[in-house]
Amino acid sequence: MKARITEVFTSVEGEGILCGTKTLFVRMAGCPFGCTYCDTPGSLPAGSGTEYGMDEAAGLISSSIEEGTYKVNFTGGDPLVQHEAVALLARGVQEGGTRTYLESSCFDQARFRHVLPHIDIAKIEFKTRDSGFAPPGRHDAMTAEAAGCLRAAVASGRTTYVKVVVGAGTSEDDVAGIADLVLTAAGRDLAGFVIQPVHGEGAPPMDLLMRLHGAVHSRYPGVRVIPQMHKMLGAP
Ligand code: SF4
Repeated sequence: MKARITEVFTSVEGEGILCGTKTLFVRMAGCPFGCTYCDTPGSLPAGSGTEYGMDEAAGLISSSIEEGTYKVNFTGGDPLVQHEAVALLARGVQEGGTRTYLESSCFDQARFRHVLPHIDIAKIEFKTRDSGFAPPGRHDAMTAEAAGCLRAAVASGRTTYVKVVVGAGTSEDDVAGIADLVLTAAGRDLAGFVIQPVHGEGAPPMDLLMRLHGAVHSRYPGVRVIPQMHKMLGAP
């Protein structure tokens, strides 16, 4: 087995409920989707990045963990594209005593369940209909995959939260529907529900953002709007 990795770097976590924590990012190569707001286009091709042997990749990661690092974030691309490699690498990180974190669109329950035993914190991303994520006619089926991943993560006792990226074209009904689905799948065992506005072009106006917040708040009062902080800092 090999691992294709675009980059390994330390920065400040800029998204979600652990925003602000010092984090080692392991950006895995490959994602077959096409979200309009994707900010890692260089990692989408399956052949991007550098191919490493598993021992070499594990060594690169372990030697990159600095003092004060809160977690290792397996990101992408979508890390489930290389789920077997991610599971092995995450297991090694855990054995070395550092928390592991997965951020994924969760497009495949079987792949997610393979990785889950080696993940401490799971960020499950639900995609809106205007995201451009799902191929035509596949949105509902792919949302169901994400819901299955959410159920599995919560049932396993992992710290699990949901992120929904919203833009100028996102509808309240869509976000309300996601919130209903999330609460059905996870109950109240959710560590958070984050609405993340698109940064820059395509960003939602403030009045829409507040309506989208309201659509979730009436179902899950702990919802938070959290922009991508690392972009404000100019961090990678
Ligand atoms: S799933 Fe993530 S990595 Fe893939 S296109 Fe969408 S935003 Fe980019």
